[in-house]
Amino acid sequence: MAMIFKGSEVVEALNERITNDADELKKQGIEPTLAILRVGERDDDITYEKGATTRAKKVGVTIKNVVLPLDVTEDALINEVLKLNADDSVHGVLMFRPLPEHIDEDKVRNMLTPAKDIDGVTDLSLAGVFAGIDTGFAPCTAAACMEILDYFDVDCKGKNAVVVGRSLVIGKPAAMMLLERNATVTIAHSRTADLPAVVRNADIVIAAVGRFRMLDASYFTEGQVVIDVGINFNDDGDMAGDVDFEAVEGIVQAITPVPGGVGTVTTSVLMKHVVEAAQRSTN
Ligand code: NAP
Repeated sequence: MAMIFKGSEVVEALNERITNDADELKKQGIEPTLAILRVGERDDDITYEKGATTRAKKVGVTIKNVVLPLDVTEDALINEVLKLNADDSVHGVLMFRPLPEHIDEDKVRNMLTPAKDIDGVTDLSLAGVFAGIDTGFAPCTAAACMEILDYFDVDCKGKNAVVVGRSLVIGKPAAMMLLERNATVTIAHSRTADLPAVVRNADIVIAAVGRFRMLDASYFTEGQVVIDVGINFNDDGDMAGDVDFEAVEGIVQAITPVPGGVGTVTTSVLMKHVVEAAQRSTN
């Protein structure tokens, strides 16, 4: 049976570190603060906001809520982002997306200063991930995959890593971060020929596809470490990852569960980035 890489274990260790770092900052008179910028009242956003607020409280990060109406103009939204950029009491800004259709999302997200871009949404932050420099921050989900690998001492050096999915939020940054850890990285996608053979050849697999249990037993072989990023629902409302966990856990060396894996770690990584942004602001 595979070792189960539980997100809760990673979160516990991460939270302890974040709380200590937040306490140190407070001793210097700095309250690490995350502004959550929400447009409208979408259920998903509100649920995430509640979860982030609970996690923030736990680790000593202050939350500042900014809520704008759904019909907010692009100019008014940009003005709000610029105000947060200029506000020294705010160290990180999380902006929910997608934004309403009348707003040019690419324009607005790139208005955020990379120093406060704790979820890696700006082009400059992503450029930093690709260049291997800390211009901003990596997207939290991709960074959560790395936290899990690091926590469970998975040495990436010289390993074959396959990332399935090439989105800018997960697949591409995760691939760059694996490369930074000296893995030999393949990025697979919907046009990849013989995907099962490509995935079987990997030592480390990151699945970020968005398809309910798509990667079944035929994709895996013994000794592999599998990080399942997918959060998917079938018609009955069941939640599962991209990997068929039950079929695969008897084959591979280690696997993250869904729920209870990457998603659990992502919110703590967000808080870690806020505290790091606050630390950087003191330099
Ligand atoms: P996305 O933007 O839709 O990208 C999906 C990627 O998967 C694309 O690159 C696509 O390839 C590839 N793909 C789709 N069907 C495929 C197939 N049949 N074979 C091979 N590749 C295929 O999705 P995303 O935003 O990266 O999200 C991926 C998953 O992560 C979703 O389930 C999402 O809910 C989940 N997620 C989890 C967290 C978390 O905290 N755990 C956070 C965010 C998202 P092409 O580029 O060729 O189309």
